[in-house]
Amino acid sequence: MIPLAIPNLAGNERAYLNECIDSTFVSTVGPFVNRFEQMVGEAAGYAYTVATSAGTTGLHAALIAVGVEPGDLVIIPGLSFIATANAVAHAHALPWMLDIDSESWTLDPRQLEKALREETARNEHGALLHKATGKRVAAIVPVYTLGMPADMDPIVALAREFRLPVVADGAAALGARYKGRSLGELGADLTMFSFNGNKTVTAGGGGAVSGNDEALVKRVRHLTTTARVGADYDHDMVGFNYRMTNIQAAVGCAQMELLPRFVARKREISAFYDKRFAALPGVLPFPMPDFAESACWFAGFVLKEGDSAALRARLREKGIDARPFWKPLHFQAPFAACPRGDLSVSESIWQRIVTLPCSTGISDAELEQVAAIVMAEVGL
Ligand SMILES: *Cc1c(COP(=O)(O)O)cnc(C)c1O
Repeated sequence: MIPLAIPNLAGNERAYLNECIDSTFVSTVGPFVNRFEQMVGEAAGYAYTVATSAGTTGLHAALIAVGVEPGDLVIIPGLSFIATANAVAHAHALPWMLDIDSESWTLDPRQLEKALREETARNEHGALLHKATGKRVAAIVPVYTLGMPADMDPIVALAREFRLPVVADGAAALGARYKGRSLGELGADLTMFSFNGNKTVTAGGGGAVSGNDEALVKRVRHLTTTARVGADYDHDMVGFNYRMTNIQAAVGCAQMELLPRFVARKREISAFYDKRFAALPGVLPFPMPDFAESACWFAGFVLKEGDSAALRARLREKGIDARPFWKPLHFQAPFAACPRGDLSVSESIWQRIVTLPCSTGISDAELEQVAAIVMAEVGL
């Protein structure tokens, strides 16, 4: 089976891991953690970065840091990996799901604007309340689907107008740009990155939260490191043990050295499939809006109609690890009852998506093999 997306450990991973063992710095303190934070910040165009144990834990801490409190609502897109909604739930808040735009598969700024203007009101204390539930709206979490930045200019303009913080779920977006700008220049107060094994660069597992406001990023760091004050056993709030270890960061540093090469290869893979499948009448490419240069985390195609399950099964029988994409969050049992807008775009695309092998280490011959089998199975 040609796998969907496997780690590509082609760099200094082994050497850096040996350094960890030789130095005994294997835990949450060590030179690789600091170096990793610097490398992620530079790649993202942000001034400050905190490395975390996972993307999910980083997002959880980021939500608390921007002021999300128990009982609040947090706006997220209806189509994302479940971790986005889980992090909101971990903060004892509730997702308010709005739809994605069919042109980018990211949070639709038009529906966001309509929801904020028509479905919220300020109470006498100035809090922004969701009229239907009476809950406070506390933050917006755009998701950079497939490594594609959301349409951040209108989203951030609305966030400023409604005085809402923006925490971007940029899990797989390192290397992406928006209107020529880096991820740190898009107006998100904080952006989370994931270094899970299936992302373009991995730390085995891990995450990072970046921002330009030093005090805010310090708050994330405080939350992720047991909220310790000083060198003794003093803690000023309920913190978390969400720190990345030096072992994870050693792998992460070696991978970050390869980020430009890996993102270039991901883009090549996406462009290859798009070109090969352009002539197939029943098939559409993944979206590529003008506003962004995606990091092209995953590649594949979308059926114009129907359901991709049978096709995926046939591709897998032929040795191609074809997979579905995220299931809309309101179809997930824990989030079925959350407030939501009209999610018809999320609902209409997810079953038509096919993701295809896109490891950065995939060979050109393997890509040709995948394309040939897809063309034969999709038919003309
Ligand atoms: C991978 C991913 C996450 C979760 O990151 P972990 O490091 O696995 O916790 C969150 N959101 C999105 C969009 C992702 O793709």
